Amino acid sequence: MDLLERAFVETLKERLGAGASITLTNNRRTFISIRRLGGLCQIRVSRRFALADGPTVDGLVSYLKGETRVLPKAVRGFMNSASSPEPLKRKSLKKLKTAGEFHDLAEIADLVNSQYFGGALSFRIAWGKAPAKVKRRGGSITLGSYDCGLNLVRIHPALDMADVPRRFVEFIVHHELTHKKLGARIGENGERRVHGPVFREMERGFEDYETVRKWEKENIHFILRARRKLKSSSGDAKASK
Ligand SMILES: [Zn+2]
Repeated sequence: MDLLERAFVETLKERLGAGASITLTNNRRTFISIRRLGGLCQIRVSRRFALADGPTVDGLVSYLKGETRVLPKAVRGFMNSASSPEPLKRKSLKKLKTAGEFHDLAEIADLVNSQYFGGALSFRIAWGKAPAKVKRRGGSITLGSYDCGLNLVRIHPALDMADVPRRFVEFIVHHELTHKKLGARIGENGERRVHGPVFREMERGFEDYETVRKWEKENIHFILRARRKLKSSSGDAKASK
């Protein structure tokens, strides 16, 4: 089992409880089969579901739990397209600003998607706008975000600098795509677990994880400084329009 498959099985176990046993199959026709034996539930699912995104897995879980008797739309859609995974839609990406001065987000997104997610994720990505208000000193910065409603990954424009290694931008994109992949997870006490153990394990699957984290620690100040400059230059750009 690869990392994605392990994460997928973990997710199912966590959400279906101890009464469920999960087997991944290579079956090309039968994506899901359920056998109930007393309190036990034997579930066999296609390993291709390991590439599904959060909403698809949510749908699968509620179907397996018997909450719905009809296969949810997201699951059907996924099964229909699983045999021929759709490449990242470049067209819809074009409307958003993906090409930076130093880093091309469309290119980076393609690479991260194919290297870590089997090319199965479909999403939009764009450079975010420079924030209108920035504190003069210190503070924190959101380097990336994933908007699940818009299916959009936003990357902070302060990362579009020659001094920011491309590998670091890849890491931030990878982090956000891991959010997309796992969806919102609810912990045992009903709390939202944004960066739970499964998330952290997948994040550490990033090549050069230690190196990029170290770089982040050592350079966050310079990114914060760059952000403050960004604010004034974007103000100029607005005035000239
Ligand atoms: Zn996060």
